Amino acid sequence: MEILEQLYEGKAKKVFKTADADVYMVQYKDDATAFNGAKKGSISDKGIVNNKMSNQIMQQLEKAGIPTHYIEQLSDRETLVKRVEIVPLEVIVRNVTAGSFAKRFGVEEGLQLKNPTLEFCYKNDDLDDPMINNYQITALELATEQELATIADLAFKVNAELIKIFAAVNIRLVDFKIEFGRLDDGTIILADEISPDTCRLWDKDTNEKLDKDRFRRDLGGEVEAYQEVARRLSL
Ligand code: UDP
Repeated sequence: MEILEQLYEGKAKKVFKTADADVYMVQYKDDATAFNGAKKGSISDKGIVNNKMSNQIMQQLEKAGIPTHYIEQLSDRETLVKRVEIVPLEVIVRNVTAGSFAKRFGVEEGLQLKNPTLEFCYKNDDLDDPMINNYQITALELATEQELATIADLAFKVNAELIKIFAAVNIRLVDFKIEFGRLDDGTIILADEISPDTCRLWDKDTNEKLDKDRFRRDLGGEVEAYQEVARRLSL
């Protein structure tokens, strides 16, 4: 596939056009940011881990009946994906309390939730990705009620599959963020990435953090944590 000009550069990935108008190429970087870009750094070979992990998981999700943007991995850092129009929502699913949930509701981190939760944030860096509810989303025409129903259904299915995938390698899936996109015919599919940048992953026995919180919270060992996740998933 012929790769054409760069379309976009985000915090962790670049996106390129290809000769096929329906196909984009994503290229994963080692750049790491936190707190909406206020903290910047890099995690050596993070892009390789995130690319491989996201691709392996998207293929497993496809097998479980969840449509994704994944087409084909080209190299360590590069993957072909379906062109979608991104729904401007961060879709967050939680199984265990952590991060902004623990802070907002005044609970300690690490409590198992009675049921998985779902929340949406409006993807808008200028506004710091504010939380947004279904009424506000449809009122602003960010997504329709029907699309939101599909997104919720798929998000909980992704959660159920991810819990199994990580439990098999002794990792607790605390929470994660996913994004969805629309194909030209309006079909909603899973897009973006699933990686230690976008999931909270804790070792089941020790609760050791194996994700981007090591970088966010200056815990050190972030390179080793990403490599450990890669090792456990046999990437
Ligand atoms: N998350 C993400 N991108 C964001 C915000 C959150 O991938 O811009 C992920 C984060 O890694 C965690 C989950 O979403 O797995 C929930 O994050 P939370 O709302 O607790 O925010 P945080 O504490 O990361 O600011």
